[in-house]
Amino acid sequence: MDEINYDDFRTAGKIASKIRKESENLVMPGGSLLDVAETIEGMIAEEGYKPAFPVNISINNIAAHYTPEAGSDAVFGDDDIVKVDFGVNVNDGLSDTAYTIDLSEKHGKLLDASRKALDAALKFIKPGVKVGEVGGVVEEIIKADGFKPISNLTGHMLRPGILHAGIDVPNVKTEDPYEFQEGDIFAIEPFATDGKGYVNDTDQVEIFSLYMPGQVRMRESRRILTHILNEYGLLPFAERWLHKECKSKLLLKNALKEMLRTQMLKAYPVLKEAEGGLVSQFEHTIIITANGVEVTTK
Ligand code: MN
Ligand code: MN
Repeated sequence: MDEINYDDFRTAGKIASKIRKESENLVMPGGSLLDVAETIEGMIAEEGYKPAFPVNISINNIAAHYTPEAGSDAVFGDDDIVKVDFGVNVNDGLSDTAYTIDLSEKHGKLLDASRKALDAALKFIKPGVKVGEVGGVVEEIIKADGFKPISNLTGHMLRPGILHAGIDVPNVKTEDPYEFQEGDIFAIEPFATDGKGYVNDTDQVEIFSLYMPGQVRMRESRRILTHILNEYGLLPFAERWLHKECKSKLLLKNALKEMLRTQMLKAYPVLKEAEGGLVSQFEHTIIITANGVEVTTK
């Protein structure tokens, strides 16, 4: 295992926190999703860094993994529940944070449920606590408010350059035995819904990550693969980011298809609540300390 540079993770958190506050004002009825995503990615670039992953803007019953397509003209509706999820990459020190905005102003309780669950989880976590027990805390709080936690979405460990580093933090009680250790870095992200309590894949995929670089046959695929390796490493990227690298949309589609077929790429399908329920999410990145947590994205 490589040494962890905690200051890079702290810087990534601090920048994300600043942008998080500034970006909340960008989400308004009639506003363009693509504008918001590109503005946040631009704010990260202005700080001199790259996004840790594409800005996710998931609305209403979409729980996660949507980022606007290149040229998208989608706009926020008057009653949208908008989840903005993004992170910063500082020399492989990563942050991951998310917030929900209720444009309808009718679903405050749904937002409170996931916000309170996140606060409680952050207070509960310390060395020796099991990840499955955190799921119990999240589940209890969300259910006490009359909602359901999304059982197949989880928080996750982070490592330098790796967003999902193998250990998950469930949002429901499980027997998962991993115990938090001082120095671990995790993203905690409770999701609450008035629907079924789990998500399904949709057919749409806008976000990918390199899984195992290997041989590709098509010349365009080789070129794009090299670009992905150099620019994003193993971190997630958006199809939209590759548009300016490619002569045509079709060539890009075919190259991505080839890399998916040969299992070089992992796809992150857009995730939709099973019953079409509304979904709220709040997320922070933390470093486990001797007796609690340090929130890097506070
Ligand atoms: Mn996130
Ligand atoms: Mn996350």
